[in-house]
Amino acid sequence: MQVMRDFFLYLSKNKMMTKMAKKYGLRFGASRFVAGESIEQAVEVIKNLNRQGLCVTIDYLGEFIDNEAEAKKMVDHCIEAIQAIGGEQLDAQLSLKATSMGLDLSEGIVLNNMMRILKSAEEHHVFVTIDMEDYTRCHQTLTLFKKLRAKHQHIGTVLQAYLYRSKNDIEELNLYKPNLRLVKGAYKESSEVAFPKKSDVDANFKRIIKTHLLNGNYTAIATHDDAIIDYTKQLVKEYRIENDQFEFQMLYGIRHERQVELVNEGYKMRVYVPYGTDWYGYFMRRLAERPANVAFILKGIMKKG
Ligand SMILES: Cc1cc2nc3c(=O)[nH]c(=O)nc-3n(C[C@H](O)[C@H](O)[C@H](O)COP(=O)(O)OP(=O)(O)OC[C@H]3O[C@@H](n4cnc5c(N)ncnc54)[C@H](O)[C@@H]3O)c2cc1C
Repeated sequence: MQVMRDFFLYLSKNKMMTKMAKKYGLRFGASRFVAGESIEQAVEVIKNLNRQGLCVTIDYLGEFIDNEAEAKKMVDHCIEAIQAIGGEQLDAQLSLKATSMGLDLSEGIVLNNMMRILKSAEEHHVFVTIDMEDYTRCHQTLTLFKKLRAKHQHIGTVLQAYLYRSKNDIEELNLYKPNLRLVKGAYKESSEVAFPKKSDVDANFKRIIKTHLLNGNYTAIATHDDAIIDYTKQLVKEYRIENDQFEFQMLYGIRHERQVELVNEGYKMRVYVPYGTDWYGYFMRRLAERPANVAFILKGIMKKG
């Protein structure tokens, strides 16, 4: 299982495979996890989810940005998404990756790009979350977040339970009273920076959920894991935390019935909806997470064949 996870994570970073995937379009079952290649297709998916009581965070997929012009294109796509959310009055937010805004290029570029996005986000009342990428970008991403949060309300970010540093980060960030998404963590990290054992990741996940909620902050618990969801339900009951201080989040295409069930139980549930032509790395990470996803995709291909 670990070998398979490593294999798909390796493929997710392969530039040649990314190019091939772009060329051949949304084939091989990726459309189960990706809402199309254009904003128009994504809007239809969001409307459908909204009708079922699910809110959304939308993500224009893009990886390996290595120049300013590419970053600018990503910004334009994000603004297009914000305008679509505002124009169509969708119950949706925006998620983005700091590297696709130019984090690896220069601090000035990424800051300017984020300011452009936040200006549009404020105009259209759209909340923006900076996703968390691999460990080498964690510190820079949090620094960027703090700078932006000092001036803007509509911005949040993500902490990963597998990182040792997250329990300190969550306390430090409390100063900003941030709206944070908490996740287990999706990248391959060394045991120098991340818990290697799943049970330790889960224990740390529970710890940071509790800390953030009891600090009085809005908390998005992003997981498909019923044990974590049940833990959160118990915790909010015990500490009488209102349902409007937290939400659950899951990925588009994963556990849809469970998502609807949670809405029917009276919880807020947000679905992370990725779209765009650069879907390949995202798709590979989903396959790395769960062998059952691979089986599902293979079955789909066999049927088509
Ligand atoms: C909305 C959202 C945003 C995210 N943003 C980020 C981010 O910014 N940075 C980052 O590093 N990671 C992010 N992630 C990914 C996250 O870090 C995990 O890699 C991913 O969510 C898998 O972990 P899990 O908590 O769902 O539990 P896992 O440990 O993968 O799964 C636990 C259990 O959940 C159940 N389960 C999982 N998948 C299924 C399924 N398909 N069908 C049925 N049961 C299932 C099973 O019971 C499984 O044993 C995000 C995840 C979500 C949901």
